[in-house]
Amino acid sequence: MTTSTNPLAIVADVPVDTRHWIGGRRVASAETFTTVSPVTGAPLARISRGTSADADNAVAAALDAFPGWAATSRAERAALLHAVADGIEDRLEDLAAVETLDNGALLRSHRRGVMPRAAHNFRFFADHLLGLGHDDLDTRGHTNHISWDPAGPCALITPWNAPLMLATWKAAPALAAGNTVVLKPAEWSPLTASLLADITAAAGLPPGVLNVLQGYGPEAGHALVSHPGVRRIGFTGSVPTARHIAAAAAPHLTPVSFELGGKSPLLVFADADLDLAADLAVEQYDNAGQVCLAATRLLVEESVAAEFTRRFTERAGRLRRGDPREETTDVGPVVHPRQLERIDGFVRRALDTGARAVIGGGPDTGLGGLHYRPTLLTGVTQESEIVQEEVFGPVLTLQTFTTEDEAVALANGTRYGLAAVLATGDRERARRVTARLVAGTVWVNCFFVRDLRAPFGGSRASGTGREGGTWSFDFSCDVKNTVTAP
Ligand code: NAD
Repeated sequence: MTTSTNPLAIVADVPVDTRHWIGGRRVASAETFTTVSPVTGAPLARISRGTSADADNAVAAALDAFPGWAATSRAERAALLHAVADGIEDRLEDLAAVETLDNGALLRSHRRGVMPRAAHNFRFFADHLLGLGHDDLDTRGHTNHISWDPAGPCALITPWNAPLMLATWKAAPALAAGNTVVLKPAEWSPLTASLLADITAAAGLPPGVLNVLQGYGPEAGHALVSHPGVRRIGFTGSVPTARHIAAAAAPHLTPVSFELGGKSPLLVFADADLDLAADLAVEQYDNAGQVCLAATRLLVEESVAAEFTRRFTERAGRLRRGDPREETTDVGPVVHPRQLERIDGFVRRALDTGARAVIGGGPDTGLGGLHYRPTLLTGVTQESEIVQEEVFGPVLTLQTFTTEDEAVALANGTRYGLAAVLATGDRERARRVTARLVAGTVWVNCFFVRDLRAPFGGSRASGTGREGGTWSFDFSCDVKNTVTAP
């Protein structure tokens, strides 16, 4: 074990220590793996490749720190979490620059949206903690008092598409509730988790309260979620990984919260404002389509399909592709060569089986690197792979419908149920259709408006449970009801 604090990587001029952060110390593994920037194609950093022994140490540190942290007052915890939020804001430029080189998402989005939201996650859950509670219930003169007891160490496993936003979305409520945390970031985008460790230490979070375990999912991740000392598993990622985690959690009956993939529909009715509908559709290319919530299936009422497509392609044609560090870029590279291949595989197979590319249809070789052209495919059937499977890239499909019933059947006709977007000028229709959709979030004439007090999650293969507001505390805690006689 080494306790040296020398940074091991300089990324965008920012020193990043890429060892684990365990019990308030930097800890190296014997082996490392190298990440490569999707922006430059150059190696970025050598990251400690966590082993099951490292996972054991991280959970041991979280267990050691748990009683002390759980015993702190709500006010103390809230103050420390606000200090973490301050630290994120102070280092916003560093975090934004490092994350852009790490996962290829737009620098301007990181600066204006993602990193402020990461800080807000801490502020929001700190404040929510202070107001958490119910009025006591009366049962024939007996009082029922409900309390949220922290459960213990939480294993938090996050994906690469919004690394710090999702890490803080899970860590902030767990910590606010009085739990300790072991965070395992994705191996394709591990760097801002390392910076978060520095920020929490500088904010005064006691050693062992937040630990960062680096490494591969089937190694460090598997060891972590299999550990009997872990009392909650919060996972955001893909359906196949969720199945592994559910099996690993089963022997200890460790509760899991899964936020998984999606294949969300965007329904455009003939009564919609078609300019708004086209804007909403083009928004689905954000982050090069690598967004779980993206409404990638455009379902358009037959009578307006031609006009909608005209307005959509006109807008999509204005998207500027290029280096995500440039202010003017709208669509940057995808995260990894394997992701590019995966996306292209889906599109090739769709084109081979009768789909037609209205726009896009392949990588952007002119830009080099990992750019995929924003793509819209028509001539697809409901049963086809491209309609049923999550592509996680800038690829949309367009199908038409003639009745509301048909629209709902198409919208609900995949195994997912994460979100849905409706474009309609008829509020009564919006109410009717929304009631029939299987989705954790429905946006009517808008997209991506989020309130952290509201529940967030997916139905069917898109996940289990809900996070956000009190739902996050319910998951993180052993909720207790104390009944006292008069
Ligand atoms: P992934 O499932 O491949 O990996 C996610 C994380 O799980 C990584 O940290 C990985 O190291 C870890 N992991 C892999 N195998 C593991 C194992 N056996 N045990 C423990 N951990 C393991 O997902 P990804 O490719 O990184 O992310 C893309 C997926 O995430 C998409 O399906 C996307 O829709 C989903 N996602 C969902 C939401 C949501 O809120 N619903 C948000 C963002 C992304």
